[in-house]
Parts: sequence; structure tokens; C-alpha cells
Amino acid sequence: MAKTRSNVALAVRPAARRAAGPETVRVDCANDRDVNPKIARFLAEKQPETPCLVVDLEAVAQSYAMLREHLPLARIFYAVKANPAPEIVAMLCGLGSNFDVASRGEIELCLGEGATPDRLSFGNTIKKERDIAFAYEKGIRLFAFDSAAELDKLSRAAPGARVFCRILVDCDGAEWPLSRKFGCSPEMAVDLLRQARSFGLDPYGVSFHVGSQQTDLDQWDNAIGRAARMFSLLAEADIALRMVNIGGGFPARYRSAVPGIARYAAAVTNAMTKHFGNYLPEIIIEPGRSLVGDAGIIQSEVVLIAKKGYDEEKRWVYLDIGKFHGLAETMDESIKYRITAPGSAGPLGPTVLAGPTCDSADILYEKTEYHLPLDLKVGDKVEILATGAYTSSYSSVGFNGFAPLKTYCI
Ligand SMILES: *Cc1c(COP(=O)(O)O)cnc(C)c1O
Repeated sequence: MAKTRSNVALAVRPAARRAAGPETVRVDCANDRDVNPKIARFLAEKQPETPCLVVDLEAVAQSYAMLREHLPLARIFYAVKANPAPEIVAMLCGLGSNFDVASRGEIELCLGEGATPDRLSFGNTIKKERDIAFAYEKGIRLFAFDSAAELDKLSRAAPGARVFCRILVDCDGAEWPLSRKFGCSPEMAVDLLRQARSFGLDPYGVSFHVGSQQTDLDQWDNAIGRAARMFSLLAEADIALRMVNIGGGFPARYRSAVPGIARYAAAVTNAMTKHFGNYLPEIIIEPGRSLVGDAGIIQSEVVLIAKKGYDEEKRWVYLDIGKFHGLAETMDESIKYRITAPGSAGPLGPTVLAGPTCDSADILYEKTEYHLPLDLKVGDKVEILATGAYTSSYSSVGFNGFAPLKTYCI
């Protein structure tokens, strides 16, 4: 929806005022002090061609350590799709992480970087039977499913394996919801897990995903409650489930403030204790975004700045990266990255942000108000913060002749 001129003017003035105070937080254009100093040094020294993603491996290691500290009972399975850079997989492997993989390619990646097959979970509920057979042949014995047809495939291609059933949960409160594509109703899941045993598989547990970048801490209580009811129902059929896989959903820090990891961990721990009492099952967590998101920065270059008419206040700033080269999560303006223009400190003005390709879908933010420095020029660098997750892995191989997003792990 187009803003009236007076609204735009109102939006500009407070932003410009905020920029002047030392202790103020600029909502739209992140403070330079938010920029990871190690990455800033790398960018200044190496001057890499843009666009590029720079990931600080120490920051990933720190997030991993924090998660272990706050959820000591959970086994961590890194969701590889968030960022499959081999350096990240290798480092997490060294730290003792397990891996949630979704495809033959991700299996080969993790095994190639040193993970043993007992540390891999084939967590995609939509698999080709020959890929299940491939995983089984490699030694993987832990598989997800959420339908009768997938269970059939597992019974044939992964005899005797441990299987867990993914249940539907509503993803309210998630900035990147995963909808009804995955999971089945708890009633169906109970039947399927019984069937799993009759097929000679090992009915191991229940999984869910409350939606990525979940901001409502109560969602884990609902979902874990559902999982606990399934444990009770199956116990009546003499099946003792042993594992709850609480999926992902922990956040990275985008424009809106999010609770700290400690509060997420407390929400999970409290819900587990509330619903399972003293009989805690094994807990698996599959973090993607929260492990790598904050550890990465994309540097991009301004290609063009233009206005659409003489009386329009909003500038269009076209970057050398867009929806097709790493910023796919700006779809429907869902994920709102913090953006900073290093070197420009002047007053800010309202900005539409778009990518460089000849596709009209390649607009990053038009409805969401973004403010960038008014003295921004063509050729200036722009940094997009907390872009370590779901960026490089979403980059097309070369749509419109633009190269895939290059990643530097430092
Ligand atoms: C993508 C995915 C995750 C990771 O979710 P985040 O919200 O990024 O932590 C975890 N589990 C499964 C099954 C997934 O598909």
C-alpha cells in the first residue's frame, strides 16, 4: 500500500532524530556496532566481490555451545539445509553435533565431512525409496515419516530401522511457518506407529516443528503436550516410545527483538517436565536458523538508486542481491533483515529495496518501512545482518546470469 507524503515525512523525522543520539537504537538501519568485528575486518581487508556471505565459524561454535549449555539433555541435530557450507558441517561435526539431513546430497556432505552414520537422522518425510535404500546402505538407522505410504517405503528399504512420526502442530507465531505440508494428526500418527511395529520397524518417537523463527514460547507447550499424549496412547498398545524430537524454531535476531536462547530452552524444559514428569524421554533438537543465522553477514553493493516520479519521496534502492540469489526469505516480506550502510551516518529516508534481476517478484521490501541513509550512493556497500541461515542454500545457480551467492567461512 502506498504511503501518503505526510506519513512518509513523519516516518523520516523520528528516524533521523534517533540517528543522532548515541544510546538510541535505529530500528530500520542497524547500528554499526551490531556488525561482527571479525567479519567487518575481513570485508575491509579482503574487499571481496559482492554479493557475498561471510560466516564467522566461532560465532556458530558459540551458538552451539550456548544451546548445549541451556538444553543439556537434548541431542543436537544441526538442520543442514540452513547452511550447508562444508566448513560449518565439519566444525559442528568436530564439536560432536549430529545432523538432520533431507536428501542424498546432504547425507554425502555430512559423511564426507566426517560424521558417522549413527549421527545422521533422515528427517525429511518425503523421500524416494531408492534414497532411503541409499541411506540405509550407508548405515543410517533413524528416519522420519508422516504417512502410510512413506512407512511402506521404510519397511521395504530400511528394515528394522528406528522411525519417528511427525505430527501436525499449528505454527502460530512463526515468522516462517511450515504449514500443513508436514506432519499428520496425532490419531493417525498413533495408528502409523503401531503399524510400524507390525512391519518390523522400531517405533522410536514423535517429532514436530513449531515453525521457523517462532516467537511465541507457548507453542512448545502445546506441541510437547500433544507428543506426551501419544506416548500414553501407544503405551496402551504396549508400545513404549522413547524419543521426542522438538524440531527447530529457535530464532536468529532480525529487526524485531526476540527472547534469548535461555528463555526458549526454559520453555522447552518446563513443557517437557510438565507433560512427562519424571519419565523424560530422549530429547532431540534440530536447530538450523539459531545456530548459523546470527553468524553471517551478506555484503552487497548498491547498483541503482531511483525515484518513480517527481513527487515521490520514497527512493528505490536496487542491490546486487535479491530474492533469487540468497534473500528468498523476504518472500511476502516474512523475514525482515537488519540492514546497515557502513560509512554513511547521515539522516535516513524511506526506501524500497529490490534486487537486480529482471523479475518483478525480485523486490525485497516495499510494504515494510526501511530507512537508509539519504546520502547513500551507487557503488556504496550495504550489509545485511544475521544472514547466515537460509541464504546461500536458497541462491539460484545463476538466474538471469547472476552467479550463485559466494560464501566465505572465516
Ligand atoms: C528446517 C528444519 C529444521 C530447522 O528449523 P529452524 O527453524 O531453522 O531451526 C529442523 N527440523 C526439520 C525437520 C526441518 O525441516
